[in-house]
Amino acid sequence: MEKEALQQQPLPDSWTISTVKPLIIAGPCSAESPEQLRCVAQELKRNSSVSYMRAGVWKPRTDPNSFQGYGAEALEWLRSVKQEVGMRFATEVGCSQHVLEALKYGVDLVWIGARTVSNPFAMQEIADALKGVDIPVMVKNPLNPDIELWDGAICRLLNAGIRKVGAIHRGFSLIKKSVFRNPPLWEIPLQLKQRYPNIPIICDPSHITGSRNLVPLVAQRAKDLNFDGFMVEVHPYPDIALSDPAQQLTPQQFDNLLEMLLNNNTPGCSNSLDMLDELRAEIDVMDDLLVWILSGRMELAGKIAGIKKMKNLQILQAERWNQIQERLLAKTSESGLRPQFISSLYHTIHKESLSIQSSLMKDKGKNINHSH
Ligand code: PEP
Ligand code: MN
Repeated sequence: MEKEALQQQPLPDSWTISTVKPLIIAGPCSAESPEQLRCVAQELKRNSSVSYMRAGVWKPRTDPNSFQGYGAEALEWLRSVKQEVGMRFATEVGCSQHVLEALKYGVDLVWIGARTVSNPFAMQEIADALKGVDIPVMVKNPLNPDIELWDGAICRLLNAGIRKVGAIHRGFSLIKKSVFRNPPLWEIPLQLKQRYPNIPIICDPSHITGSRNLVPLVAQRAKDLNFDGFMVEVHPYPDIALSDPAQQLTPQQFDNLLEMLLNNNTPGCSNSLDMLDELRAEIDVMDDLLVWILSGRMELAGKIAGIKKMKNLQILQAERWNQIQERLLAKTSESGLRPQFISSLYHTIHKESLSIQSSLMKDKGKNINHSH
């Protein structure tokens, strides 16, 4: 089907109506034991707003020597806890084999993790394995801030005829460390929402923040931005969790979070001090990026100094500087920034770049024509 038709395609009522109230998925990062799962399931069951218990059984871990999940054995635990407690369960799938195993144990919802979404082969394989299946399939954003990969993954599922499709915003992995484990870059999920107005999009504040004390701030922000629900990590004893110990909430903390999110229905009425903290944390991320970008730019200027010296060129190349300014001016008019601002900022950047080049060229020796 054409991309636009796919994006506008209505979804079944049984999926979208269930998300008229927020879709809430909660549970441990990983399934660790039958006791752990039973304990969380009983806690979550007390709150009728929770639709699915999450638990990872195949864990996509960076370090091959860390805990990788209990696989099919844990699916067996989930099946029996579901029978005992009556809590539907959700797990992550990363390949067609996972899909088949999870379905065999009666999984009620699957999600595709951030690492898998970046891989079109894996996505296609999973979409094919899910053909004809009626359970909801949620797609996390890819690790890198590329909306096309996210969009493409959703497209593959819709093309395979899967109707109960949803998206999960879990933040993006950036080079710079920041207060967030995965900075939210809110424009990207909001853009996805515009492209797919019928697809519910929920927020995973646990993986965005990486730390439990920031979870309520980000969840509140997502609520204010009209997200359709939340996926939150909850563990009976977070500190001894086998994965993501710092970000999981205790059941009590999770109850408090839901109380805040569900009983405070006026959009934008979040505690303004907390909101200030969150916005400042986002500003810190942007500032980190600016400094990183500036240092990268100066490093390139340094390399250019070496070439100019070798070719015996002047430091200031007027033609090139004019070209830079013209290009930026054109960019600026699209960006909404004031041209005077960009112009004065770039004069400062250019001055610093010339001065770095000049001192490098001096250090490197003779035969250089200085022009300023
Ligand atoms: C998870 O939800 O447990 C997980 C591994 O998340 P992500 O794919 O967002 O890193
Ligand atoms: Mn996790």
